[in-house]
Amino acid sequence: MSELFPTETLFVDVLLPVPIPQAFTYRVPRHFTEYVKKGSRVIVPFGRNRVLTGIISEVHGTPPEKYKAKYISELMDEDPIVTENQLWLFQWVADYYMCHAGEVMNMGLPSGLKVNSESRIQVNPDFDREDSLETMEVEILKIIAENDSLSYADLSKFINEIDVTKLVKKLIDKNAIIVYEEVKERYVPKKIKKIRLKASLANKTGVLSLIDQLGKSEKQQQVILTYLSHVAIDDIESKNLHGIDKVFFKEAENSASSLKTLIDKGILEQFEITVSRFDSIDTDSLKEIKLTEHQNQASDAIMDSFAEKQVVLFHGITGSGKTEIYIDLIQKVLESGSQILMLLPEIALTTQIVSRLQKVFGDKMGVYHSKFSDNERVEVYMGVLSGRYQFVVGVRSSIFLPFKNLGLIIVDEEHEISYKQFDPAPRYHARDVAIMLAHKQKAKVLLGSATPSFESYTQALDGNYGLVELNKRFGDAVLPSIELIDMKAERKNDSVRSDFSSVLLEAIEARIKRNEQTIVFQNRRGYAPYMNCEECNWIGKCHQCAVSLTHHLYENTLVCHYCGHTESLPKTCPVCDSLKIKSKGVGTQKIEEDLQEIFPEAGLLRMDFDTTRAKNAYQRIINEFSEGEVDILVGTQMISKGLDFDNVSLVGVFDADKMIHFPDFRSAERAYQMLTQVSGRAGRKEKPGQVLIQTGDPEHPVLSYVVQGDYKGFYHAEVKEREGFRYPPYSRIISVSTKHVEKTVSHKAAGLLVEKLQAKLGSQRILGPERGMVERIRNQYIFDVWIKLEKNKLNMAATKKFIREQITELNTQKEFKSVRFVVTVDVV
Ligand code: ADP
Ligand code: ZN
Ligand code: ZN
Repeated sequence: MSELFPTETLFVDVLLPVPIPQAFTYRVPRHFTEYVKKGSRVIVPFGRNRVLTGIISEVHGTPPEKYKAKYISELMDEDPIVTENQLWLFQWVADYYMCHAGEVMNMGLPSGLKVNSESRIQVNPDFDREDSLETMEVEILKIIAENDSLSYADLSKFINEIDVTKLVKKLIDKNAIIVYEEVKERYVPKKIKKIRLKASLANKTGVLSLIDQLGKSEKQQQVILTYLSHVAIDDIESKNLHGIDKVFFKEAENSASSLKTLIDKGILEQFEITVSRFDSIDTDSLKEIKLTEHQNQASDAIMDSFAEKQVVLFHGITGSGKTEIYIDLIQKVLESGSQILMLLPEIALTTQIVSRLQKVFGDKMGVYHSKFSDNERVEVYMGVLSGRYQFVVGVRSSIFLPFKNLGLIIVDEEHEISYKQFDPAPRYHARDVAIMLAHKQKAKVLLGSATPSFESYTQALDGNYGLVELNKRFGDAVLPSIELIDMKAERKNDSVRSDFSSVLLEAIEARIKRNEQTIVFQNRRGYAPYMNCEECNWIGKCHQCAVSLTHHLYENTLVCHYCGHTESLPKTCPVCDSLKIKSKGVGTQKIEEDLQEIFPEAGLLRMDFDTTRAKNAYQRIINEFSEGEVDILVGTQMISKGLDFDNVSLVGVFDADKMIHFPDFRSAERAYQMLTQVSGRAGRKEKPGQVLIQTGDPEHPVLSYVVQGDYKGFYHAEVKEREGFRYPPYSRIISVSTKHVEKTVSHKAAGLLVEKLQAKLGSQRILGPERGMVERIRNQYIFDVWIKLEKNKLNMAATKKFIREQITELNTQKEFKSVRFVVTVDVV
């Protein structure tokens, strides 16, 4: 770059991790001009007394027109860590999802690569107007000066005041203090200390004479002998370079001081190497798989389809061996030398699939997961950049890794909503971004699912995607038989116990006797969904969200599942003081307790949000369950997908009604997916599977499609309804939610937005304002505006630009300045 502007001043555009519309331009100090490159990190001043880490998105010679460019303070990389491809993708995602490239960059880079910004406060050395301060402020200034600098948190401890931001702001305004961000690299590579012999001694004669010479110091001789026990004397010339771990000397109980003496004398050398944080995998256990005839046909059909289409949808029933087919394809692409990304939804199944993949690919594979630490993620990021990892399996954010030549992206369980990010921006859908990314890099995309999303299936039927089906389970396994249990009839017969039908309880009992396992599914965590007073009908509600609080038994608390607010359970009704407050409805915690009471001898486990917070909790529960000591696994949607247990022959769905009656145009699609996926956990090996679904509405059409396993029939019936209302897949939906502490302000802003949008787009396309699904969250009142845009009729880019302008216009009006407008493109 610098040759282009040999004498002129250089400027760089910098993407900053803040929600601002465009990159900021900075001036490059002379001593950096030769080194600045697109994609390198820089530290820059931003606003008043702030510094941020950003990425250079452009190097040029044009100063900005509207402001005077500041200098960059520091250049962090000589070689760029963000590729041109990524910069392109950040911008594409920002444009498509109506947010800012800096926000995309911020989420796409592991935080370990961004310098840590902890705001700190120091006294301004140029300050000389103590007379302008109040007594309290003088005191505070003294405290800060005594400590050199303090973080916000430290300061609040010192002065015993929870919120110090106002105080600090006042002091900044008076120029008495400076706020800055502590700048330090957060990524710490893991190093180990190693020891080797001085090169000139590292041969047979050298070693022998050395041992001889050390004869008088037995302890030093011992150290050398320990070394030789790891590095064979005949092989010493080739192995010495790598040395051995320093800990080996400790393990051999060698004298530490003798080791030190030998190092000081220059006989031994100490050196450090950077190692991977991931446990190295025992490559001896690598497994070879052989596809069955049906699987081979499917794999060939996928390859054939790729000859014509960029995207192929692979519709294979649960247990058909989709993972094995992915493995086969990955091996083929690895041979071609291109990169491969396999996306997994962020759910429990990642651990099981990852360990299956690791058995095949060993440490050639990088794993990118949100449960990993920053350092681990940085390692995978840098490993993709350097080419160390040709194949990565990861959750949705792994689409932002620095790939250079992708050949294949696999999106497993492509229908999963966890591919969509809800908060914060970018509110992207990883499957859709993956298709764009693949398009850019001329790679192929395989979308796999037993219950494809309507979007993808429609594309396949329209001929835009290839379609490959596999309708046979692996081996002798067959799909389980699915039966509905009519809870109304059961209640009439008085055969219900703790909301369990006699049919389900008998089936569970039979499994316990036969030493087979059961999964019980209920999509509600906690003990009971709400507390209710039987005298006055009081219901425990969150004071800042419009939802009822969930009873958690063990902690004896009421918890808000939206904001996390927790309070202790009242002993009497807060309104009428009655003792008759009872928990209503049933969560996983209560099911676990009831089952334990009914089957006191049975082993039980529970898997839900509450039991899986710890890093390895999923793995522990999965291991324990697959080892077979446990009879029943109770869980939320976490257990419904992807899991593969040999010994599960019964799946019980505790309550299907909430799912099928959820007020959303996608509820039927979701219910079908959820019930089919959870059913798919039964009978995956030799033992035939049975599924029992408890419902008060056994005539519901979705349920009969599930029972028959008729995806196509369900799709065609459901899609007809959608067409009538112009819902996706016949349109795209953009939602704009307004959020404000005052209901009237939030409502008015949403109402005005509707008017503005309708004026240009017509009233057919704009719905709302509607109260949010939950009307109030964290004290903010929410109203939703929906924009339905037919496919292929409108210029999407122009329409989005128009919507953005209307929001900006409203947001600059005084009345609506503090309203938050949250835009979601492609609502799921
Ligand atoms: P799906 O993802 O389609 O639900 P899986 O890939 O989990 O199915 O396969 C179901 C089970 O069958 C797994 O335990 C898997 O290891 C086994 N399996 C599938 N295909 C083969 C094969 N060709 N050889 C050995 N085991 C297989
Ligand atoms: Zn009451
Ligand atoms: Zn709340």
